[in-house]
Amino acid sequence: MALLLAVPGCAPREDAEYNEMMRARTEQFKEVTLTTDLSWLTENEREIIRLLIPAADIMDDIFWMQAYGDKEALLNHIENDHARRYAEIHYGPWDRLAGNAPFYPGFGDKPLGANFYPEDMTREEFDAWDDPDKASQYTLVRRDQQGGLVAVPYSEAFREQHQEAARLMREAASLAGDPGLRNYLLMRSDALLSNEYQSSDFAWMDMKESNIDFVVGPIEHYEDRLFGYKAAHEAYILVKDPVWSAQLEKFNAMLPALQASLPVPEAYKAEVPGTESDINVYDALYYAGDCNAGSKSIAINLPNDEEVQLRAGSRKLQLKNSMQAKFDHILVPIADMLIDESQRRHIRFDAFFENTTFHEVAHGMGIKNTINGRGTVREALREYYAAIEEAKADIVGLYLVGQLYDKGEITSGELMDNYVTFIAGIFRSSRFGAASAHGIANMMRFNFFEREGAFTRQEDGTYRVHFDAMKDAVTASVREILTIQGNGDYARAGELVNADGRMSETLSTDLDRVNAANIPVDIVFRQGAQVLGL
Ligand code: ZN
Repeated sequence: MALLLAVPGCAPREDAEYNEMMRARTEQFKEVTLTTDLSWLTENEREIIRLLIPAADIMDDIFWMQAYGDKEALLNHIENDHARRYAEIHYGPWDRLAGNAPFYPGFGDKPLGANFYPEDMTREEFDAWDDPDKASQYTLVRRDQQGGLVAVPYSEAFREQHQEAARLMREAASLAGDPGLRNYLLMRSDALLSNEYQSSDFAWMDMKESNIDFVVGPIEHYEDRLFGYKAAHEAYILVKDPVWSAQLEKFNAMLPALQASLPVPEAYKAEVPGTESDINVYDALYYAGDCNAGSKSIAINLPNDEEVQLRAGSRKLQLKNSMQAKFDHILVPIADMLIDESQRRHIRFDAFFENTTFHEVAHGMGIKNTINGRGTVREALREYYAAIEEAKADIVGLYLVGQLYDKGEITSGELMDNYVTFIAGIFRSSRFGAASAHGIANMMRFNFFEREGAFTRQEDGTYRVHFDAMKDAVTASVREILTIQGNGDYARAGELVNADGRMSETLSTDLDRVNAANIPVDIVFRQGAQVLGL
């Protein structure tokens, strides 16, 4: 099943210039060590983590096969050390930060269908093929001996690997004191063998109390850029942060009161946000497969199965130590270049964490249905919905932090920390451009705040935040966005996105300065039993 992409006669470049380029590209990823305090766990819980690491490694091997093909053959083929390291980071010879362009000589473009489908399969051939399992998220598409297409269930395609992962998970389950974790590990190991995942997703939703979480199996669909059908394998091993999780539980109970405090007329906040929304804080111990390829997530929102979501909701997992790593190695150096020197003391991790977390909380606030019979907000705002909803989450999140400061419920610092850190956070995420819904939302905030005088760009190229103007701008923006959502105002949403959803030339120039300063773009992990002292 290996992809044969090497072009004959094209020798690997070994010159100093290539070496230097690959060294620089590898250094875009700052290496950080994934650890946390495990001393408060029981000996059995530590043993469970020891067992889950090799199960996660199996997901890693399978993802290599899905994304590229034969990992060992590729790594042996690459002669430049930096390029080999870069291939490990990207799970193949294509740069995920550069639109999947090949970075090693002899490789063409990455196939849209990665290695989920035969490389020579056309869309027409797939469309004409009659098989009920061809679009299943849990099958590979291969050719049979006659050259026809065949759908191979993951449970067959990866039989030995799934069996070994299931064995490790069952052994871990036998040590689990928490019934939710025990049940989930058993159900999930069954799913790997049966290719039926839904009941294990329900079991994961029921797992509320466990100190350890293990997200595992075929989950996200981004790696299949051909159809978006096929789920890629991954694993996270996570340990709960009990202090922060308890804090969030307290805030959750306050959501109805916070919703009532939103600065809009009653009709625009008539829905009651669910207080059972499940958001918890974890430290990550291990990333494997899909989630470890290229850019690293700092939050998880699962499951993807819409039937499970409708009946049981979803769980949000905030990965605190990964956030801290991105804060320390990316956001702080950017702020040191772009934030006014006298305000850099406001760049604080607690503020970054609160902003990120309340963004998630804010997605559950406001209303889901228009107040004038235009259906759901999503339906009414159509292609602008995603950007407006992300902008809402940013701005309502910041508003909530302000409310919680006023009520004395957040005491980590001062609201100005959240404001200055928010602006620095815009610089961090804008480096990837403004094309995604998050990117557009970022630009909408930035341009609106600038117009309202919430910050000014100074002659030396640094930015200075003005507290009172910022506070007013946050309130005004909450009012505007919730009104657009409640009215299902498609035209106004379009105006906002089109007017404010793009990057100004000045900002773009400032970001060029950041990029020229070799500030890391993302992180890569040193992880495993040894760094955990297990
Ligand atoms: Zn969001």
